[in-house]
Amino acid sequence: AKQRGKAGYVRFLPGMAEPVLAHMRLGGELRRALDQDELEVVYQPIVALDTGRVVGVESLVRWNHPERGLVMPGDFIPAAERTGLIADLGRFVLDRTCRQLAAWLAEFGPAAPGHAGVNVSARQLHDPGFVAHVLATLDGHGLTSDRLVLELTESAVLRGSQVSRTLHDLDQAGVRLALDDFGTGESSLSLLRAFPTAIVKLDKSFVDGIEIDDADAAARDARQAVARAVVQLAGALGLEAVAEGIESEAQAEQLRALGYCFGQGYHLSRPLSATALTTLLSSRQRA
Ligand code: C2E
Ligand code: CA
Ligand code: CA
Ligand code: CA
Repeated sequence: AKQRGKAGYVRFLPGMAEPVLAHMRLGGELRRALDQDELEVVYQPIVALDTGRVVGVESLVRWNHPERGLVMPGDFIPAAERTGLIADLGRFVLDRTCRQLAAWLAEFGPAAPGHAGVNVSARQLHDPGFVAHVLATLDGHGLTSDRLVLELTESAVLRGSQVSRTLHDLDQAGVRLALDDFGTGESSLSLLRAFPTAIVKLDKSFVDGIEIDDADAAARDARQAVARAVVQLAGALGLEAVAEGIESEAQAEQLRALGYCFGQGYHLSRPLSATALTTLLSSRQRA
């Protein structure tokens, strides 16, 4: 099931029989990637659906692999989680993000993105030093805690007293928590009560096909019903709702009509390098 590439790297094939070995090897490469600066952070704008303003960004990690080219997070985050390297990777993404946000705030003032969202894995929340590290990083870049949003999935926050304490302490410190991929988990609603959530991100699966006027009207209506319920629930609980994965103006239009104020997706902007987003901000929203 395993093949070696030209430099002796294992290629990761679907159904590979040795996932542990694969993860270990990938882990070794990731260690090198971190040490040799092969990782990059790109930023996807979070946009006000009425004005088109970039109100925030989400940080997404990329790996510029010397042989394999661009590697997407879905192909290495699981290995980083299993090998424990997610802690170092997470620190890298947080530090890079804070540095960049501080630079945008300095350059664009109130026209800069107001906050940055960073994805966090379960393992990071189990680290008792996590909160102190987050706050020290913000402070080190001269940022107040309201500039940071930590994006968590349901599986990351399920159970564990250390996780509860971590999330409570972050909330107390003024860092906002977003529930990612909202609506896809089994207990999305009870999580809202159990954790100090500030933002819900409607999963892309409810945005896909939300606008089409085709034979499958029942499926479309069901997605619209979920999208509507989520934004109404958010409103009732005083949370912000962000719709993810918007790929067309028709979808944006539909989400606006349902009551969404904020969205994210290729139609609004792809994830951009720091340089590319700086250019976009210069042309679009310099005061
Ligand atoms: P996510 O947090 O749900 O991030 C959204 C994903 O959807 C990103 O994929 C983004 O590029 C993609 N996306 C955004 N708009 C659209 C759209 O309109 N259409 C489509 N088809 N896709 C869209 P990406 O960058 O490949 O990231 C995948 C996942 O990897 C993320 O899902 C997140 O769970 C994880 N991830 C990314 N960066 C980090 C990180 O720094 N740390 C951790 N722990 N996880 C990360
Ligand atoms: Ca996310
Ligand atoms: Ca998501
Ligand atoms: Ca996701």
